[in-house]
Amino acid sequence: MELSFKDKIVVVTGAGRGIGRSIAERFAELDATVILSDYNEESLKDVAANFEEKHFSFKTIPCDVTNADQVNLMLKEAVDSYGKIDVLINNAGITRDTLLIRMKDEQWNAVLDTNLKGVFFATRAAAKYFMKQRYGRIINISSVVGITGNAGQGNYSASKAGVIGFSKSMAQELAGRNITVNVIAPGFIETEMTNVLSESVKDDFINKIPLKRAGTPKDVANTALFLASPLADYLTGQVIKVDGGMVM
Ligand code: NDP
Repeated sequence: MELSFKDKIVVVTGAGRGIGRSIAERFAELDATVILSDYNEESLKDVAANFEEKHFSFKTIPCDVTNADQVNLMLKEAVDSYGKIDVLINNAGITRDTLLIRMKDEQWNAVLDTNLKGVFFATRAAAKYFMKQRYGRIINISSVVGITGNAGQGNYSASKAGVIGFSKSMAQELAGRNITVNVIAPGFIETEMTNVLSESVKDDFINKIPLKRAGTPKDVANTALFLASPLADYLTGQVIKVDGGMVM
């Protein structure tokens, strides 16, 4: 079966770079119309130029996911432009890693606000449209550390575990309207977020990965394609680890 997202409207938060950009690109390659959203307008311009060159169908709508008003307006603009949305990918995320005793309130709040509250804001806003349509696919990007925890990432792992709990609750709440909610938990993926790690930390990660390589944004994007496709119509409330077997 050839996957096609023709006539589907796919919203991706944090689409300016990394995993979000790759997800947006894979959907666009399969003929979706993609709403590229990010709070970094420079990155959005860069992606837009690239998408234009490739003749992809898209619209950029800047939005900071920590701001409920901006999130509501972003989704409204998407629906006003295309009459509907089909898929929401909650991808925007940040890290502010540090050990517990050094962690400042701002570091805790910034990570929880972006990674967890942002997912709540966008899911709540999109659910309004999905419920009317009696169709919707929500894919939330968590992390394997939301399952395992990780020293130095108390704020990040709490936010990502929160995404899993929230997604399972929403899967139950929204299933009656044919809205599925699934989670992708990436392992170690090569992006600018992980580029800040030292070579020795990267090597340590790779040694723990049975497939012996870091993941690529495309590895994550391909799983998002599956979850948004009819092949996954009977999946909801699931957490799929895309981690080369690192966590089993
Ligand atoms: P990047 O930092 O490369 O990209 C994240 C994008 O989100 C950036 O464009 C960033 O803008 C944007 N962003 C940050 N905060 C906000 C906000 N408040 N509103 C809108 N956009 C925002 O990260 P990755 O691509 O690596 O990560 C994507 C997702 O995958 C995140 O949720 C991350 O936690 C998760 N993940 C990543 C893993 C990895 O190994 N890379 C592993 C597991 C999970 P700016 O460029 O200005 O910061």
